[in-house]
Order: sequence, then structure tokens, then C-alpha cells
Amino acid sequence: MQTILYFDICAIPIFVIILITIFVRKLTKGKSNLLFLALITLSLAATVTDVITELLWRSLPMQPAEILFGNIFINLYYLFRTSSVLVYLFFIFSVTGTWYRIRRKRIKALMFVPYAILLLTLLSNAFTGAVYTIRASTGYSRGPMITVLYAVSLLYAFFGTFYLISCRRFLTVEKLISLLSLNLMTLGSAIWQYFFPQYLIEMISSALATVLIILFVLRPEEVSDASVDTLSFEAYKTELRKVLLTKQKVRIAAIQITNAAELRSYLGEERYLSYVAHVIKLLNSMFIRERIFFNIYFEHPGNIYIIVDTPDYDIRDAYRRLYTELRRRLEQMDASGERIRPKGCGIRIPDDLNNFDDIIKFGREFADHMGGDTVFADAADIICSQDYKIVSNMDAILNRAISGSLFRMYYQPIYSFDRGKFISAEALIRLFDDEFGFVSPALFIPAAEKRGVILPIGDFVLEEVHRFISENDFDELGLEYIEINLSVAQCLQDELPEKLAALSDKYGVSPDKVNLEITETTYEEMGSTMSVNLKALADMGYTFSLDDYGTGYSNMQRVSRLPLKMIKLDKSLVDDMISEDGRAIMRNTVKMMRDIDKELVAEGVETKDRLDDLHEMGCHFIQGYYFSKPLPPAEFVSFLKTHNSPAH
Ligand code: C2E
Ligand code: MG
Ligand code: MG
Repeated sequence: MQTILYFDICAIPIFVIILITIFVRKLTKGKSNLLFLALITLSLAATVTDVITELLWRSLPMQPAEILFGNIFINLYYLFRTSSVLVYLFFIFSVTGTWYRIRRKRIKALMFVPYAILLLTLLSNAFTGAVYTIRASTGYSRGPMITVLYAVSLLYAFFGTFYLISCRRFLTVEKLISLLSLNLMTLGSAIWQYFFPQYLIEMISSALATVLIILFVLRPEEVSDASVDTLSFEAYKTELRKVLLTKQKVRIAAIQITNAAELRSYLGEERYLSYVAHVIKLLNSMFIRERIFFNIYFEHPGNIYIIVDTPDYDIRDAYRRLYTELRRRLEQMDASGERIRPKGCGIRIPDDLNNFDDIIKFGREFADHMGGDTVFADAADIICSQDYKIVSNMDAILNRAISGSLFRMYYQPIYSFDRGKFISAEALIRLFDDEFGFVSPALFIPAAEKRGVILPIGDFVLEEVHRFISENDFDELGLEYIEINLSVAQCLQDELPEKLAALSDKYGVSPDKVNLEITETTYEEMGSTMSVNLKALADMGYTFSLDDYGTGYSNMQRVSRLPLKMIKLDKSLVDDMISEDGRAIMRNTVKMMRDIDKELVAEGVETKDRLDDLHEMGCHFIQGYYFSKPLPPAEFVSFLKTHNSPAH
């Protein structure tokens, strides 16, 4: 019987075009893409072997060599063909995000037992000839056991079809239809070919169905991020949604390049991204050795997420091993001297977090909750920490605080070496929440700024401090002024000068009793409103301090140009004085600031040694736990009465 070969031959260029498309569109990253690549390769191989065997059967009588090749190629054909149907099943598990189900025994059996039967059947044919026979005179003819081979393909196709239908809610309509079409085509053409073996339409129909898949299922822009040659953040979100919907258990290794901003400005965007691509490549090669299922995703500018599809995998242990290796290998290639500072965190889904927004947010923020030297943490530890609980409940906390007036003002005394007594204090806001207790302003002030509720809080601070000043006799206490922290939003308020003027009138507080603290970031973000405000307030008699000097990119020129009376040296600079370098930096900073007539306040002084050193270096004022923590108003007043009295 002559077979009609044209269909098969037409399938070849279609598969080749799809293969080219895969490489041109870089659909070569991630499990789904790799399985699709395997599917196309196997289908192409099946088609080619099919054509070869069909041609061999035509030259009758067959030579012994032809019979041998016929045997080889027909076995290869059945192997490639059935494997492609099996790979397609794997592909379905992968694109529906239900890969983890493959580990179930029943599913494993359904996938592999028929395959084993197929292999045994093919092998046994050498002895029984029950599947097919090849004779010199008649060529190829089927035996009764051929049904087994078709049955295996049919079984896979049936299973795939029902499985897809059961997963329909994870897929869009066009994806579902495209995915189903391959199974339906396999089913239909297998049945057709079983009854009409002369029509070789099986491969052409699967070629057409795979065209649909590459058009509607694999969209590179959704999946990969060409700038770093890995899966995109969009793909991460899609995968996460599927994981959560299917209640799948996975591990996520989140890695944050904490110095991404520095590296980007130092290397430039393009070199930075190729550096990141290199890091991802290293991670990829290291994780492959772990023998786990994983995918790597990247979120600009510096977050890498690795979803590990092996629930009992100990990600913490792996990170410890791999971190050292990653650092070592990066150092080897670091000709330019750049150093990435990664921090990692292992998240167990759904045990640690089971809500989409929480996971995304946590992946971006976990590093902020890790100590300076910690390079890896368990999500559970961070989530259990009080800080994290506070931050994630910040909306409720701020609501309660604002509506229930839960804020209080505390005062931290500031000591003057020249006068030998405490002549001022910094007003620091305090919040005691019913549920969480003390909530640090370092947590709720930035949160209030972000949520746009900082102004009423700032107004409260201004009002309270003015009231405090008016209610106390500064001369008697030995006080000269109080320092008030201003937030960026407050400084940008048009009516800030009027507000202060109104308070000054209302409480009879003269501007020289108030010193306003501003940070360097405020200067960076300030527009013209800010400069106008600053000048107006300075004209009214208010003085300014620059807070947190030494934490940002401090700029001496800017410092000298602004109307600043004082510079507050950040606690981190003071802490660094344990080292010789740190002391040299402090000594020179003090000297430089004194040369441009700034008064200096050292913050966070906790020991007598530090105090003496700073005195000797020429620092004017000291604020720190060595003297006192921030105190409630009454305690602050009695502190002054005790310590500022002449007898003391
Ligand atoms: P800041 O303005 O730099 O305030 C100094 C911080 O250092 C205070 O933290 C103070 O309690 C702490 N500190 C002082 N001496 C020591 C020490 O010896 N050891 C240690 N470990 N810490 C010391 P606090 O009160 O938690 O305030 C944190 C930040 O919150 C402030 O930093 C400031 O930026 C902001 N903040 C506080 N109160 C207000 C406010 O009323 N308005 C605004 N806008 N921001 C505020
Ligand atoms: Mg301050
Ligand atoms: Mg400060």
C-alpha cells in the first residue's frame, strides 16, 4: 500500500520554522519553554524518521541493509512520537502551573507505566514480531500489537484533554483552545491513521496545533526579560498567582541586591544589567547542581526571585553554601572592582505567606528588616518580628493614633560643653499603641509621609512643643531652645511660615526658642517653595540644624551655602569612632564644620569615652543615652532642675 507522504513532508518546514522562532524570540528560559522546545524537537525527529521509513518501504524488494535501517528508524519513530506526546503532557502540567502534581503517585504511574509498556512492546518485537514485521519482499506490515502503541498515545492525549479541561480556570480561553487543539488533533489523527494508514496526517496536524501554541500560549514579552536574560517579573507574578490558586507548596529564594542604586550609578544602566545577567547565570548553574525544579525571575532594579518547586528543599542551607560560592566566583571576575551586596530570604509558600500582595511586598521589603551584617534570613523570623508586625499593620496603627490622639512629645536633653550644662533638647514624638505598645517614629514617620498623613502629625508636634515652651520658664531651667524635626512635606507647605508665626503669637514663644531640624534628603527634594520657606523663617528669627549628617551623600558645598546654624552628626558616625579611620573621619568632619562656623551636635553618644573624645575633638553639643533617653515633659523638667542647678 502506497502512503501519501506529502502531509508529512509539509510538517517538516513548519517544525523548523517553529524551532527558529523559539530561538529568535529567546523562548529558551524556564520550564515551560524548555519543554516546548523538547516537544518540537521530538516532533521534528518523529516526522523525519517517519518519512525515512516510508521511503524505505517503497523500494521493494528491500536489501538487508535497508531492512536493518528500517528496523532502527521505525523504532525511533515510535519512540520519538510517543515521547513527544508524553513531553506535551509535562508541558501541560507546567503551563497550568500544576507541576507539583506530577509528584503524586497516581499521576506518576499514569505518565510512566504506559511509557514502560511501550518500550517493552517495542523491545519484544524483535522476538515476537507481533508489533510489526519487515520483510524483503513485502516491506513493512503491522502486527496485532500495534494497537498497544496507538493506545499509549491515545491514553496520553485523553488524559491531557481531561486534565486541561479540569485546569480551565488557570487559563485564558485562547490558551485553553490552543492547548486542547494539540490533543484533539493527536486523538483525531491517530484514530484516522489507525483506520486509514495510507494518510500520514498525524504530524502535519500536530505541527498546525503547535503553531497555535506558540502564538497564543508562549508570549516572550510576558515571560522573559531580555535585559538580564531570565524570566520577567510579570512571569513571577503569573506563576505566583497559579501557585496560590492551586494551593501548591513552593519555596521562594528572594535575593535583593541592596546596593543596586549605587552599582547602577557607578556602572551605568547597561553594564549594571549585564552584571546582573551574569549573577543570574551563576545562580542558574549553581541551582542546576542542586537537582531541584526552579525558575529564576528578575524585578528591576535589583530583586531576584527563585521559585523552587521542591517543597522539602532546605533553602536556608542551600543559600549558606551557595552564597559563599557566589561571592567567590563573582570576585574572580570582578576586574572592575564592583561588589554586589546581596541579601537573601527563604519564603515558604503557603506556610509563611499565602496572599499575593503580601508576598510581592515582602519580596521587596524583607532586606529592610534584616540587620546590617545578616545576609540570609527565614521569612518566618522576619514576619514574627515585632517591627514587621508593626509595619504591616501600619494603616490601622496610624488610624488609631490620629483619631484617638495617641501621640505624645518627649524631650531628649542636649549638653553644651561650653556652658557646662543642658541648654536644649530635641523634641521626639512618641506613639503608644494599645495593641503593639511603643511604635518607633523611625517606623511610623516614613509610613505617615508615604500615606500623606504626616501634616496633622507635624501640626501636633509644633503645637505641643510651643505649648511646652510657653508653660515653662526657660531661664530658670537653663534652657535656650528646643529642636523640632520637620518632615519633607511640612517644609514644602506654602503656609509653614504663617503657621509658625500663628503659634508664636498664640503661645508668646519667640522664634529664637525654636530650632528646626531638616535632613539632607529634604534639601534634595526641595523645590522653590522650600527655599522661600527657609528664607522667610530665617528672616523671622528661626534657626536650622541639618539632621543625620553622615548618612546620605553629604555635600559640604551645599552645607556651607544653606542658612544652617548647626550640624547634627549622625549616630553612625559616632559609632564608627571605635576604629582609627572612624576617629579620623570624625576629627576632620568636626574641624571642617568648625572652619565654616557651624555648631556641632553629636547624636547617639552612649559612653564616657566617646564623650571625652568628642570634647577633645572640638564638638560643641552632646545628645545621647549617656546623659539621658528622651523623657516625658515632667521628667525632662525635673531632670533639668537636678542637673542644671548650680550646686550640681
Ligand atoms: P533623629 O531626628 O535623628 O532623632 C534622634 C534619634 O536618635 C531618636 O530616635 C533618639 O531617641 C535616638 N537616640 C538619641 N541618642 C541615642 C543613643 O545614645 N543611643 C541610641 N540607640 N539612640 C539614640 P527616635 O526618637 O526613635 O526617632 C527616630 C527618628 O524619627 C528621628 O531621628 C526623626 O527622624 C524621626 N522623628 C522623631 N520625632 C519626630 C517628629 O516629631 N517629627 C518628625 N518629622 N520626625 C520625627
Ligand atoms: Mg532629629
Ligand atoms: Mg538624627
